[in-house]
Amino acid sequence: MKGFCTRRRFLQGIGATALLAAGGWSVAKPVLINPCRAALPSELQASLWLAKVWQGLDVSKVWDCHTHLAGTGDSGSGVSIGSQLTSPFYPAQYAKRLFFLNAGCVRSAPGQADLSYVARMRNLIDGMPAGFKTILFAFDHPYNEAGQADLKNASLYVPNAYVRRLVAETPNMFEWAASIHPYRADALDAVHAAIADGACAIKWLPPAMGMDPASTRCDAFYRVLAEHRLPLIVHCGKEEAVKGVHQQHLGNPLLLRRALDAGVRVVVAHCASYGNDKDIDNAGKHLPSFDLFARLLAEPRARGLLHADISAVILNKRPLLVLKTLLEREDWHPVLLNGSDYPVPGILPLISPARLAREGLLPEEAVRDLELIREHNPLLFDIAVKRLLSWQGKKFPASVFETRSFFERKKA
Ligand SMILES: [Zn+2]
Repeated sequence: MKGFCTRRRFLQGIGATALLAAGGWSVAKPVLINPCRAALPSELQASLWLAKVWQGLDVSKVWDCHTHLAGTGDSGSGVSIGSQLTSPFYPAQYAKRLFFLNAGCVRSAPGQADLSYVARMRNLIDGMPAGFKTILFAFDHPYNEAGQADLKNASLYVPNAYVRRLVAETPNMFEWAASIHPYRADALDAVHAAIADGACAIKWLPPAMGMDPASTRCDAFYRVLAEHRLPLIVHCGKEEAVKGVHQQHLGNPLLLRRALDAGVRVVVAHCASYGNDKDIDNAGKHLPSFDLFARLLAEPRARGLLHADISAVILNKRPLLVLKTLLEREDWHPVLLNGSDYPVPGILPLISPARLAREGLLPEEAVRDLELIREHNPLLFDIAVKRLLSWQGKKFPASVFETRSFFERKKA
């Protein structure tokens, strides 16, 4: 519990903005919509379950390695949301956009969306013990085979420059992952620039961005990543939040063999825990993406290079068998890295501590405190749930949460 809330004073003004932002939403939909309260009340701070979350962790090493930036671009950030996410003509995508923005407690007033999203994140990190940081993701456009940006199919764009600027403003809270499409004509220059600007990883979402990780077109890109030991975080398995070019087959974990063979440190996002992919080793068959990830992890090429983040593995939609396997397979624990997939943990219906308790993965008595923590701080909620998870007496060890040494780039 050391250092709890020590940064609060510094950010009091920002916190007030975030609280104001929440009002309109919570009144409209009190059940489904995250109430967006900021600080934890004192009785919750004294929770025994909360104390367990930080026991045995060196907070200065705890980096949440998977967090998203959203916004509308109304601050001049360069963020853009494509028609798939904004138009009522795409009802499912439109509803998702509202949910995503609300989960980050975005203010609905014009000109405030970008700023209030970031203010809310800083406010939440301020509510964590000092030293905790999150890795913020940029998000590149889709590009076609000719190396041109495919703006028609772009559903979300978060420029590297914007993310880098936010990190520079509050370096005690954020690290960043650049997003660079390997088919861009300037891809190699962009990677070198990102490295020089302190990026600690590259983020790809192939089903939405349209890169094929098994293509020879990635080879030069992989060489730079390997040379600089810069990790490549790749979404694997089915993608639903951001449609983009919508090429689900590009999320197949087996396509990452090429990057591993090139010596790249690869992080499979969400442990590929959702959806099915073609078993390209046995043509025609489809298997859970998670099984293909498990196969890849067992191959000699994966040794020392293949890692996976456990973001989103606690979502209601993901098979419980995946979560149980991840807890049980202690031989995998050294390659697992914790991330929250923020703002996802702030979207109330997506994660149910009560369900996890019913399945014997969480103590029943912890459910109430966890649900209250989520109302105040979804980042804290996410790590709290994962620290309290256990199956057959096995838990995620501290190393899964202390991800700093994996990502930190030594200053030249
Ligand atoms: Zn994500």
